[in-house]
Amino acid sequence: RRFEDAGLHPAVLDNIKKCGYIHPTPIQAYTIPAVLQGKDVVAVAQTGSGKTSAYMIPIVSKLMGKGMKLRTRTTVAHPLVLIIVPTRELAIQIFDEARRLTYRSMLRPCVAYGGFPMGTQRDEMRKGCDVLIATPGRLKHLMEEPEILSMSKVKFTVIDEADELLNNDWADELDHILRGGDSNENPDHTYMMFSATFPRAQRELASEWMSEDDYVQI
Ligand code: AMP
Repeated sequence: RRFEDAGLHPAVLDNIKKCGYIHPTPIQAYTIPAVLQGKDVVAVAQTGSGKTSAYMIPIVSKLMGKGMKLRTRTTVAHPLVLIIVPTRELAIQIFDEARRLTYRSMLRPCVAYGGFPMGTQRDEMRKGCDVLIATPGRLKHLMEEPEILSMSKVKFTVIDEADELLNNDWADELDHILRGGDSNENPDHTYMMFSATFPRAQRELASEWMSEDDYVQI
């Protein structure tokens, strides 16, 4: 399989080339077409499998395909994509990948995690925040500040390393965050979940948020 045959936006294909990716990894070969078709995705994936680009590539491609209207600077951040991750290290890693894949697009990624002044992250978010990568504690705090963050435009929600999130007792925060995102304007909201293991807690979370006849399990 080739990236060129997947029906991706040409600007994303350019960015994939700049990343030096020649062939899709197996998880990318499954996930990219599924997301382009509008399916929810539940995937068992290890770090190193290329899972970050597996969701980032089709999401960015779909958003670019919608036409790039000029960003209006608002004081409230309205992300289109929400990526929830367990650690700051992972958040930063995903932010870097998001920056590479959104290069020369109107999409601006932002990152938010705990242990760092919220004011600085808020100022960054105010410059534009189309793709928000965040750890659950900080995200919950930001959601409590309606003048900083609104979830009303989120179209894609990704739960990355779901097993780590649930092992670290973030279940309540996840529930709160997903409910916040659920009360938004998009009936065609896409949910994705990636996890290295898939015990009961993850299966329950997946079945609550992803329609069963609509998800691909890889
Ligand atoms: P991840 O599993 O998302 O942590 O990715 C692991 C590493 O693989 C990252 O450094 C990516 O930049 C790299 N990578 C992702 N997709 C590809 C690909 N199709 N070809 C080569 N390297 C890739």
